[in-house]
Amino acid sequence: MSPNRLLLQFALRRPLWIGLTIVLGFSGALFNGVSTMLIIPVVLGLLGEEVNLKGAPPILQKVFSSMAASGGESQFLSMLGLILLAILLKNVTSYVSTLSSGHLSRSLVSDIRKEGLRLLLDVDFDFYIKTKVGDLINRLGGEIGSTATAIRTAVQMLSMVITIFVFLIILVSISWQLTVISTVLLAAVSLSNSFFVKRAKRFGQQLSDQSRDYSIAVLEMLSGIRLVKATGSESYEYQKIERLIDYREKADFSSQANSALIPPLNEMAGLTVVIAILLLGRIFFRGELESLSAVLLTYLLVLFRMLPFVGQLNNARSSFANLAPSVSVVNDFLRREGKPFMSKGYIPYTGMTAGIRFEQLAFTYPGHDRQVLNQVDLWLPKGTTLALVGSSGAGKSTLADLLPRFYDPTAGRILIDDRDLKDFEIRSLRQAMGIVSQDTFLFNDSVRNNLAYARKDATDEQIIEAAKRANAYEFIIKLPQGFDTLIGDRGVMLSGGQRQRLAIARALLRDPEILILDEATSALDTVSERLVQSAIDELSRDRTTLVIAHRLSTVQKADQIAVLDKGRVVEVGTHAELLKQGGLYAQLHAMQFSEEAQTV
Ligand code: ATP
Repeated sequence: MSPNRLLLQFALRRPLWIGLTIVLGFSGALFNGVSTMLIIPVVLGLLGEEVNLKGAPPILQKVFSSMAASGGESQFLSMLGLILLAILLKNVTSYVSTLSSGHLSRSLVSDIRKEGLRLLLDVDFDFYIKTKVGDLINRLGGEIGSTATAIRTAVQMLSMVITIFVFLIILVSISWQLTVISTVLLAAVSLSNSFFVKRAKRFGQQLSDQSRDYSIAVLEMLSGIRLVKATGSESYEYQKIERLIDYREKADFSSQANSALIPPLNEMAGLTVVIAILLLGRIFFRGELESLSAVLLTYLLVLFRMLPFVGQLNNARSSFANLAPSVSVVNDFLRREGKPFMSKGYIPYTGMTAGIRFEQLAFTYPGHDRQVLNQVDLWLPKGTTLALVGSSGAGKSTLADLLPRFYDPTAGRILIDDRDLKDFEIRSLRQAMGIVSQDTFLFNDSVRNNLAYARKDATDEQIIEAAKRANAYEFIIKLPQGFDTLIGDRGVMLSGGQRQRLAIARALLRDPEILILDEATSALDTVSERLVQSAIDELSRDRTTLVIAHRLSTVQKADQIAVLDKGRVVEVGTHAELLKQGGLYAQLHAMQFSEEAQTV
């Protein structure tokens, strides 16, 4: 879709404001044109010159003859009043028109921002894996900002086109011959601007690419700031980003040098057109110049007043071309086709009675060839715990991601009480699930609000109760403002174990029917690990739980343990059964046991 179509598509949602902007633009231009048309005859009249309106537009002649009744100087004074009134009306309409076009462009930008936000919340997980966050921030911030400017420019162009159109009508009514010539000359000027417009588009593309690269680089540097500092890579990062800043500055300069050429060139070209018309007028109206001077002067004045609009229009074309790449980026971003969206399902999820069945599951990540899961058959009865173990890359997290439908299996099904997961309305299904992962996310907000995120209506008592059960209460009340303490970006003020206990408290507060746990007690010290482990035990008690276990010691009590190897379930059983079996689980267990013995 071309950028213009994107703007048009959004503009059509606001027909009233578009209509108002057009009407106001038209009226303003009319008042402007009429006042301009009256100036020369009135000034000549006030100076005592004879005003000959032969060949003048009928409307001008009519106005003059209707005022002629008052006769002499008072005729011109009342006409002066008329001019002032037209100028006043022109300025009032132009004020209202500025407000209305401002409102129109602001609402279009808000519409685009809201659409972008809706898309970000609707689109699937996979989109975020493939898209860099820096790129998204650039699109939502800088590129939508540029699109806002493009919209304002487009709305201004609309007003300019209307004004030029009205002026042209006036010019035609004075002399169609001269107007044909001036239109051809002005069109030639505009055409010669196409060279600059093309260049502006190319520079705009460079600017857009560079601002994306810059945002990505800065965001990556910030996300990896610990690594940057730990490896002393500050100067490397500085130089990398400095280069991007310098490139951008150069492209910005070239862009400015290009667009700054347009106004002076247009002014010169416009002046040449006026002179050409003057000379041609002399040739055309040879012999009648005396009697036509008032009309010719009026023509030239109207033309002169119109020229700045033509110049501004050419300028706006170049700015718009410069911004068009940003509009295209926003357009691509807003387009839903080609982006991953889950089928939403239609049956509200109300709870399970029997359990969850994974049936002949296979999975390949979108855009990849390698099968990550293959022929997975598992049965998780309600109220029990199923632990997934296996070497790194075996497919444990992928399998767990299929349950809340972050992805759908490429083959096979997941059933809850014999109903396919895809049949359930996705929001209600996800609301029945609680996910506690290694990568605990906390908002830069108070402890209380972080806990209540999963359940907005939770009372203080419920929050405290959940914190206590998650072994988090003790450390929370020791924080400077207790539950009201702000915990910094992503909870930087807290230790890993504390963050995890907050995540567990949050899940407890939500009281989900199904729990998905990605255990990460390995990163914690023994005391923290014990606190987190007992919080996890509390959370998963009598709950249908799917747990990804990295440390086998933590899942010995699980009702079932499934061992995954290269995407297949190779063993299922209890800890004792699997040890007895002497297979992969027994090997992994022996390996971890000897590692732990060595570290002790
Ligand atoms: P770990 O214990 O190290 O977390 P895991 O058993 O949970 O490993 P998964 O994270 O499920 O393993 O990964 C299984 C395979 O899928 C790996 O080979 C991994 O490279 C691949 N994989 C994971 N995420 C993606 C993705 N978004 N796109 C493509 N391949 C992926």
